[in-house]
Amino acid sequence: MASTTGQDTPLVGRGNRDGARMFREWFDQLTEAAGAGRGGAYVFVMGSLGELLRTFDLPLVFPEINSLQTAVRHVAHEYLNQAEDYGYSPDICGYVKADVAAQLRSGALPMGRIPKPLIAVHTNACNTYIKWAEIWERMYGCPVVTIDVPGSRAAGRLTWPGDPAFEHDRRYVAAQIRELIPLLERVTGVRFDVDRLRENMKHANALSRGWQQVLALNRSRPAPFNALSDGTIFLGVANAYRGTEAGARYFADLVEEMEFKSARGIGTASAEAYRLLFVGVPCYPLFRRFTEMFGELGGNFVHSTYLWFASGGANTGYQCPLEDPIEGLAEGLLIGVRDAMDSMFFHTGPLLTMAKEFEADGVVYHPIKSCRTVSTGLADSRRALMQAADIPSLFIESDMMDRRVVSEAQLKNRIDAFFEGLASRRHQAAIGR
Ligand code: SF4
Repeated sequence: MASTTGQDTPLVGRGNRDGARMFREWFDQLTEAAGAGRGGAYVFVMGSLGELLRTFDLPLVFPEINSLQTAVRHVAHEYLNQAEDYGYSPDICGYVKADVAAQLRSGALPMGRIPKPLIAVHTNACNTYIKWAEIWERMYGCPVVTIDVPGSRAAGRLTWPGDPAFEHDRRYVAAQIRELIPLLERVTGVRFDVDRLRENMKHANALSRGWQQVLALNRSRPAPFNALSDGTIFLGVANAYRGTEAGARYFADLVEEMEFKSARGIGTASAEAYRLLFVGVPCYPLFRRFTEMFGELGGNFVHSTYLWFASGGANTGYQCPLEDPIEGLAEGLLIGVRDAMDSMFFHTGPLLTMAKEFEADGVVYHPIKSCRTVSTGLADSRRALMQAADIPSLFIESDMMDRRVVSEAQLKNRIDAFFEGLASRRHQAAIGR
């Protein structure tokens, strides 16, 4: 079936349009809360516990998302410079510095204003989370809670519900959630309502199910969405609207759109000569241009590890049991955060599977200066991939926030050379060498 962009069909592009609108609405709500002097819950994408925090009527603030928005909107350098002048090192996570500058500006960001933290809740999925939350503790004296989620002890050695090791871990996480609840009651003055939690978890389950289906639909040829550009919009909704009816509905609609595109051979705006996988965090200072540099040469990102770890494990589609919501929430958090950590630290095996399932022609590794959690070890992981499979890969370095270390010309040179290699390889295969 011929590929078309299908721009004349109302269903096509609905996910991007609705996603952008919902994102604006979410930020408007934050601005309104800030204006009214209400505090928010500061959380992170890898294990936000949005389902629980919403039962206390807390506006959710995702500092990682706010920070990346400054880069997409080309003002990140102003925030980074301010934080560095204040004393933060150029070496540390750029998201942290943009957030510090936003706090110094009373929460002012390009999209609006964020409320101050009433409480910060985070997991140990990234070590930076722990030090980052301490900044808010120092600035505002707000309570900071770290939920310690046990990760995989080794690649591919997962345990599941019913296994004694898993049950120990789940009890450990559930005990921490039980300790968190009275603290949330104290800081918000709202009584915990287990039925509201169950309802929110139902929505989160529906959202995860939809996210998993959407990702799987990108196996189609051509892939109905670009994992870097479109995928990031979907990811924003998956995080900001987790545990809400609107989030669940959005993903049901998105499944419908992707099924529609997939059934009719409707791909992305650029032709898909090469199907690529992306490993790492996107280059937000050149967000659109980065994808274009691949698209112009026929490259389309069909999947990425980012869509796993930055969804906090929603990609697994895992359905939290609802009979005992706290135990179910602990189980979902354990599985989701563990999966997010595995997709950063142990991704070689799953990448090989992904390459096969998505019929990938190449893998693009994108280590970045200011996120060591994701970038450390990527060179070794690339070597392991190349030893295990005959699949071309590209290793390009830049940053997710700091335009001082992003060179479009250098990236373009490397990308052009990579595509020459892909073309030559295809030619050799065609002539049977
Ligand atoms: S995962 Fe990377 S970008 Fe995210 S908070 Fe940790 S260091 Fe920063």
